[in-house]
Amino acid sequence: MEITPEIREQILGTAKVLSIPMRTKFRGLTTREVLLFEGPNGWAEWSPFTEYEDEEASIWLKAAIEWAFGDIPKTDVKTIKVNATLPAVKDVRKTLEPFGKFEVVKIKVAEPSQTLQDDLDRIHQVREHYPDARIRLDANGNWDIETALKIAKTIYQENVPLEYLEQPVRTIAEMAELKLKLQEFNIKIAADESVRKVSDPLAVAQANAADILVLKVAPLGGINNALAITKDAGLPVVVSSALETSVGISMGAHLAALLGSEYASGLGTAALLAEDVTDTPLIPVDGDIRISRVDLDSTRLEDIEATKREVDWWFERLRRSLK
Ligand SMILES: [Mg+2]
Repeated sequence: MEITPEIREQILGTAKVLSIPMRTKFRGLTTREVLLFEGPNGWAEWSPFTEYEDEEASIWLKAAIEWAFGDIPKTDVKTIKVNATLPAVKDVRKTLEPFGKFEVVKIKVAEPSQTLQDDLDRIHQVREHYPDARIRLDANGNWDIETALKIAKTIYQENVPLEYLEQPVRTIAEMAELKLKLQEFNIKIAADESVRKVSDPLAVAQANAADILVLKVAPLGGINNALAITKDAGLPVVVSSALETSVGISMGAHLAALLGSEYASGLGTAALLAEDVTDTPLIPVDGDIRISRVDLDSTRLEDIEATKREVDWWFERLRRSLK
């Protein structure tokens, strides 16, 4: 949608920059910086990671502007299922506790600081403490085909209730090759890093490089775009978060509700934040999160105000992206 001078003014006039501590280090981060603004629809979050270039950040802004100001299809869905997320940590139980009850857990594997054995140990711990949970393994593209096959074989032999491997290898070509080889073990793969840009989902589908697409609404430029892209790609999807506050999660959850995927969404991640912007955060309750807009609670914001330097940086970035 077009950014009119009125919209621009309202965004700049309501924008708040916040710096939120994480419960545990995730994606190399100990705090998450976000910018929130308010439109007639309610609050929206603009939180492209700080290392992202303006071009990408502008697409995320389009998504946030649509959520705050645009036409969004309505839904009667009240809650959606979400998975729990386990970063590469030692204390499995303590980390999974904030997720409450869950049916599916995504385990981060193949992190540079971890060995294959560390990953297998974590999988075993999860199975011991949560024997009924289905498992997703997210390698963030860090395996080669050979390693991925080795793990797949082990998992198959150990009867791990695996839902899928998420981005086991880096490129679309490798994903396609691995997908064929994994048929032997009846293991599915999901593309995540391979679907970051608007044109990617179709490319992945056409290359037969994944069984499932992991989609984030912000990098796809908003809910309406994401709906159109999903339809074109014709694969099952998992809506996932980019480590947002409950405001950002509300947008992803709305998309997930509209899509009605059979797979639990990766939107339980507000549980990974030590603070949030609302007294009624969108954190999982018995494996579900609710579908609703999120209002800010001002007393919450005092503790998570960004420094002046961070605020200046984000406003600069915002002005550049609003051009
Ligand atoms: Mg992932």
